[in-house]
Amino acid sequence: MSSGTALITGANRGIGLGLVARFLSAGWNVIACCREPERAPALRALAPAPQLDVHAFDVRDDAALASLVAALGSRTIDVVINNAGINPTKPRSVEQLDYDVWRDAFEVNTIAPFRIGVALRPFLRRSSRPRIITISSQMGSFARNSPGSVAYRTSKSAVNKAMQLLALEFQSDKIVVCPVHPGWVQTDMGGVGAEITVEESADSLFRLVDRLTLNDSGRFFTWDGREHPW
Ligand code: NAP
Repeated sequence: MSSGTALITGANRGIGLGLVARFLSAGWNVIACCREPERAPALRALAPAPQLDVHAFDVRDDAALASLVAALGSRTIDVVINNAGINPTKPRSVEQLDYDVWRDAFEVNTIAPFRIGVALRPFLRRSSRPRIITISSQMGSFARNSPGSVAYRTSKSAVNKAMQLLALEFQSDKIVVCPVHPGWVQTDMGGVGAEITVEESADSLFRLVDRLTLNDSGRFFTWDGREHPW
């Protein structure tokens, strides 16, 4: 895979950390974003600057996004990976659903990936092969008819639609935009009983990113490159 520069959110643990490691190992430069860089020793240990450039960024924070954009200056970004996400604790019943928690899930899982894509468009335009990958979830698929996790499922369904729309908006710039289900992965979110390791997911996602072309833009994929039903 040719190298370039990737920007990854939620880079301090889980799939995000695995993706940073995978891109670095292939010689990419990585702009790694996380809420508290000073509390991210595992991330910082992966590579020295300038190959690894770490930024403080809470994806809900407008001012932090503006600071990130300012700090990036005239850089070129080839790949943006919207990985940061939350899966709120399930309430015992719909009557106990916390609507502020639901709103927060939309901020992090749905609105932030769209807003980040728009803010980083000028940096992607400088790339010869620009791509935006948003780590979504099969739990947002309309094809799956299972109950519960209302906040998480709806926020992931909505981000799928948001990415389909962003793909259309960005077609004129030849920016590929795809939501991707990363697999059921052994992370804090996925749990120890999950099907695949962070390394397996990150490696497959890395290969998928390499394969994506404009024909794929606006389509929903699995980590290993199969098309996912919406
Ligand atoms: P994880 O281990 O819980 O990590 C979540 C990451 O998102 C952390 O780095 C966290 O940072 C970050 N994050 C949360 N809220 C944020 C915010 N407001 N601003 C910036 N960063 C924030 O989860 P994961 O399993 O790696 O999940 C990564 C992505 O994959 C998520 O979008 C998730 O929905 C998706 N996914 C995971 C699975 C799975 O099986 N694991 C399956 C389907 C989809 P902090 O450390 O600061 O909280």
